[in-house]
Amino acid sequence: QVSLRLENVTKIFKDRKNNTEVIAVNNSTFEIKPGELITLLGPSGCGKTTTLRMVAGFELPTKGKIYIGNEDVTFLPPNKRDTATVFQSYGLFPHMTVFDNVAYGLKLRKLSREEIEKRVFEALEMVGLKDLASRAPSRLSGGQQQRVALARSIIVEPAILLLDEPLSNLDALLREQMRIEIKKIQRKLGITAIYVTHDRVEAMSLSDRIIVMKDGKIMQIGTPVEIYEDPISKFVAGFIGKVAFFTVDVIGKENDNIVIDFKGRKLIMKKYDKELNSGDKGVLMARPESLILKEEKEGLIEGRIKINVYLGNTVESFIDTEYGEIMVQIDNPGQKKIFPEGAAVSIDIVPELCKVFKE
Ligand code: ADP
Ligand code: MG
Repeated sequence: QVSLRLENVTKIFKDRKNNTEVIAVNNSTFEIKPGELITLLGPSGCGKTTTLRMVAGFELPTKGKIYIGNEDVTFLPPNKRDTATVFQSYGLFPHMTVFDNVAYGLKLRKLSREEIEKRVFEALEMVGLKDLASRAPSRLSGGQQQRVALARSIIVEPAILLLDEPLSNLDALLREQMRIEIKKIQRKLGITAIYVTHDRVEAMSLSDRIIVMKDGKIMQIGTPVEIYEDPISKFVAGFIGKVAFFTVDVIGKENDNIVIDFKGRKLIMKKYDKELNSGDKGVLMARPESLILKEEKEGLIEGRIKINVYLGNTVESFIDTEYGEIMVQIDNPGQKKIFPEGAAVSIDIVPELCKVFKE
């Protein structure tokens, strides 16, 4: 088990024809602990793939250093680094069987036939494909092909496993199954891993920690709980989950808390941007589960139910308010009052679950 560290890594792509440049990765610094799975999460074009490619050695940084364990690998070629990459496009060899695809890396290493056979079947067993060893990749489903790609990368027992949107070609149900399987396999092997995705649910469910990126920069690094419950900015708050924002007035501080005025009601807030002072305008961030539906006039914000979306374990109520449409999530709906569509209601907030940002 080994750690991975990036120090002030920048990648600038220059286009000599137009004399323009793109800062794909802007001064990234982070460390992944041995056996940890970290996700790079951010919108398309924010520099996730470029970061991964620099770790794998397919791209050289313009500035900065990359270490695997204590070794400076910044300028080592890909085959001299102990990394394996799984791509979105699988990249299987179409003319080889599943067995030969998975065996490929071991054959390069000149292992004995018995050893190769033993390890290929172990890897195929791990991804649930033992019975399909003699198939051609073209006769496999997308999910099975992705498993072959995964088996092929873990069989060489790399120190670092790199996964670039490996599930984005799969349908929703398979994606859910596979992301849990990837996590189980990564845990079992104790392999240090970077997982790239633009899908927040995938990031939340897989990661030990998440790195949220935007425009080549790291916006926040934290556990899924930290990122979801205590995001550092409005951008991170909105990117990691559904959220509503309300303008509020900061009226004072009390112990470690901040006191705000929202529509004439005083609220004591535990989570807030430390730069906020009395007299400032703030923005209250509320997630769907931190809002409560009440009879009209009983809560803080009046509204009317536009539509109720029934999802089994929750109901999502979309409500027209003076702040626009707000979604309230009602968990365990069987045990709660569900207001019908068209009903006049009001919305209350649970201050402990909310955070106040600078405007
Ligand atoms: P992501 O994987 O987050 O979608 P990328 O790392 O692929 O983002 O790209 C980051 C930025 O760098 C984008 O603006 C992209 O257009 C640019 N970029 C990526 N690769 C190259 C390249 N080989 N040449 C020029 N620009 C590139
Ligand atoms: Mg990408």
